[in-house]
Amino acid sequence: MTLRVYTTPVVVLHRTNLGEHDKILTLCTLERGKLNAVAKGARKPISKLAGATELFTHSRVQLAVGRSLDVITQAEITDSFQGIRNDLTRIAHASLMTELVDRFTEERDPHPQLFWLLVNALRALEQTAHPDLVTHCFEMHLLSEVGYGPHLADCAICGTEIHADPAPFSPALGGVLCPAHRRRAGDTMPAGLGTLSLGRTLLHISPRREDALEALAAHTSPEIRRGLERLLRAHMQYRLERPLKSPDFIREVTALYTPPSNGR
Ligand SMILES: [Zn+2]
Repeated sequence: MTLRVYTTPVVVLHRTNLGEHDKILTLCTLERGKLNAVAKGARKPISKLAGATELFTHSRVQLAVGRSLDVITQAEITDSFQGIRNDLTRIAHASLMTELVDRFTEERDPHPQLFWLLVNALRALEQTAHPDLVTHCFEMHLLSEVGYGPHLADCAICGTEIHADPAPFSPALGGVLCPAHRRRAGDTMPAGLGTLSLGRTLLHISPRREDALEALAAHTSPEIRRGLERLLRAHMQYRLERPLKSPDFIREVTALYTPPSNGR
């Protein structure tokens, strides 16, 4: 029997324990897309694989092709993203990013650009003063890459330019609607022009452009940013069969660190 082995950069999207000592990891790989792999002995404290099998970790791993699951045989950590692990808010945002990559991609369907988008967004998340903007920037690029980019400027049905403020956004149809198509659509949510403009701008910058995100943050109100969050969550959730878990985590963490607005 020949043991086929390959090496690839990976990011850990998800992990579950297997038996007493092992882990099953869901990996986003550069060349082979998303795949599940076994890390034998990774739960033993002395394991050489322990660090590389933590959530979010970016490493270069060697895998042996197995009958059902591939097996991790070696790993060298490229980036452990310690700056994320020390901060609950950043952990919550990183959890959403990895959950989205897991949910929006099929197994063994390579998306090299998505791999680097994830790595760059995690790097940005370590440093940024605006985790929400880094995440929305990541979401806009991810949706575009997997073919679900929302229509934020033109009617999702006929392409007419939209000027209404707020404009009706249909999660089911994946975009804003002109008055004619609004009448035939089901549920819509109001999307302000500022919110739509912020979404479009984020699609044209890298999540690592902290200077650009800083400038955007200075010119957009918290209300506009929350508007984009609601719009993107509704748009993404409509395209997924099961509810996303991480948005609740982000809400809980945000509530924890936001002082109550009424009374002191
Ligand atoms: Zn229309």
